[in-house]
Amino acid sequence: MRSAKCPYCARQFSILETDAKQKAYLPFCGRKCKLLDLGSWLDGSYLVSDDKDEDTDRRLDGQEGTET
Ligand SMILES: [Zn+2]
Repeated sequence: MRSAKCPYCARQFSILETDAKQKAYLPFCGRKCKLLDLGSWLDGSYLVSDDKDEDTDRRLDGQEGTET
């Protein structure tokens, strides 16, 4: 039996019993935990706008090695 532990609420749940809709929220146990967890870091350091906003969403992918 495959089980997972929600990183947000630490609840153990069975992946096999998770329906297709809820699987979209893995590894969280459900939509609420995913949104709450994302929200907790989204309003933090994620939004780093260095210069232009227009192509930031694309550049974020390959920008991890850049410092300063
Ligand atoms: Zn949860």
